[in-house]
Amino acid sequence: MSDQQSDLVILGGGSGGYACALRAAELGLSVTLIEQAELGGTCLHRGCIPTKALLHSAEVADTARESAAFGVNTTLDGIDMPAVLKYKDGVVARLYKGLQGLVKARKVNFVSGTGTLIDANTVRVGEANYRGANVVLATGSYARSLPGLEIGGRIMTSDQALGYDSVPKSAIVLGGGVIGVEFASIWRSFGVDVTIVEALPRLVAAEDAASSKVLERTFRKRGIAFHTGTKFANAIQDDSGVTVTLEDGTTLTAELLLVAVGRGPQTDGLGFAEAGVTMDRGFVLTDDRLNTNVPGVRAVGDIVPGLQLAHRGFAQGIFVAEDIAGLSPRTIDESGIPRVTYCEPEVASVGLNEDVAKERFGDQVVSYEYNLGGNGKSQILMTNGFVKLVALKEGPVIGIHMVGARVGELIGEAQLIVNWQAEADDVASLIHAHPTQNEALGEAHLALAGKPLHAHA
Ligand SMILES: Cc1cc2nc3c(=O)[nH]c(=O)nc-3n(C[C@H](O)[C@H](O)[C@H](O)COP(=O)(O)OP(=O)(O)OC[C@H]3O[C@@H](n4cnc5c(N)ncnc54)[C@H](O)[C@@H]3O)c2cc1C
Repeated sequence: MSDQQSDLVILGGGSGGYACALRAAELGLSVTLIEQAELGGTCLHRGCIPTKALLHSAEVADTARESAAFGVNTTLDGIDMPAVLKYKDGVVARLYKGLQGLVKARKVNFVSGTGTLIDANTVRVGEANYRGANVVLATGSYARSLPGLEIGGRIMTSDQALGYDSVPKSAIVLGGGVIGVEFASIWRSFGVDVTIVEALPRLVAAEDAASSKVLERTFRKRGIAFHTGTKFANAIQDDSGVTVTLEDGTTLTAELLLVAVGRGPQTDGLGFAEAGVTMDRGFVLTDDRLNTNVPGVRAVGDIVPGLQLAHRGFAQGIFVAEDIAGLSPRTIDESGIPRVTYCEPEVASVGLNEDVAKERFGDQVVSYEYNLGGNGKSQILMTNGFVKLVALKEGPVIGIHMVGARVGELIGEAQLIVNWQAEADDVASLIHAHPTQNEALGEAHLALAGKPLHAHA
């Protein structure tokens, strides 16, 4: 049994773990980063990056199919799925190489292997003990399934769907959350007959109700079928396809079934509970400085209850590194974390949705919806949707919700507005370039400040 000592031992090299390693090394701490698969984790290899590459191929397919509307005649000959996968894998490979270079350059001790938490200061990998004054747990998440629904063959999660090397004729997507609607969107753009099944009353149910409504309307127009408020009962597969039965008796058949019902914490059997770490249904509980109940042990990323997003993991990793280095960083306000769903049309938001704001602030809440019909650039792109502001009367903007092609790119300004607690008038006095989609944010604030330009009062 060999022993190695460093200031910080991090278990898991995904968004949360590697961000923590990079920042800690920058601050002069010695760091050991333990990863059992590939540095970069879910986001780089099986999540954010590969899905967004597929969504970009999907956008190119839509552009080719619909180009005549812009006066350009093209024909879409087909989708060459092996070539799509090669493009996607190329993007991942370039980023992976860059990340490996960063970790090496910052002299992080990268250990390849499966680690187990032994005690507050020790992670064991095979025969070696890695000891640190601080240990950070960052083991991430896995795709969940439902009781009785076994993954295999035609029934898959996003992990297998990302490598599916042909275009299915039809697909059923179980789950109308972020991952479900992104895959539904990709497949529809590739010409697949897609049906989404969602138990909650609406698609992207965590978003503002107005966002779900526009997304559902646009999906309907795109020919994406969906059953909301309907629970899955069972699925049977054979050589020809999958048959899904819903609790209301509806049966659906398709070439494959994507199970996108959420992600669970990857913490089972890793020694966390045995080392005394308090857990709740597999999640690691922390205080707002990301300390677990065991002194010296912190946790970041998807294993900590809250939004399962890569940029939350980055922020938490950086926070923990700085806190350990004694910089006393400000705690992270989860409600200020921006959220983007990259389907077509995109859905983006930050802060509170209107229903939650009303529960919290009652009749102090005002809202304004600016229709992209009045936005020049959105009309040029032929996209529909809105920018919706939720604000307090005579007070700051506390939520921004957007739907439309490319609106994810507007979330940068939206999050500054919400997180800096700007009031409508503050933003109304800032000049937005014309014609940009960004201008829709300016117009919405002009209107909320009582001086609408390209909108009715
Ligand atoms: C299909 C899909 C699309 C997504 N799209 C987006 C998006 O567009 N934007 C966004 O912000 N988020 C997106 N996410 C979520 C994002 O990927 C996660 O929030 C993020 O990866 C979480 O980071 P993490 O560090 O907590 O965990 P992970 O990235 O899961 O990393 C954990 C790492 O720990 C390793 N590990 C686990 N156990 C051990 C062990 N015992 N020993 C050693 N290593 C171990 C794993 O191999 C893994 O590499 C998406 C997720 C999926 C599945």
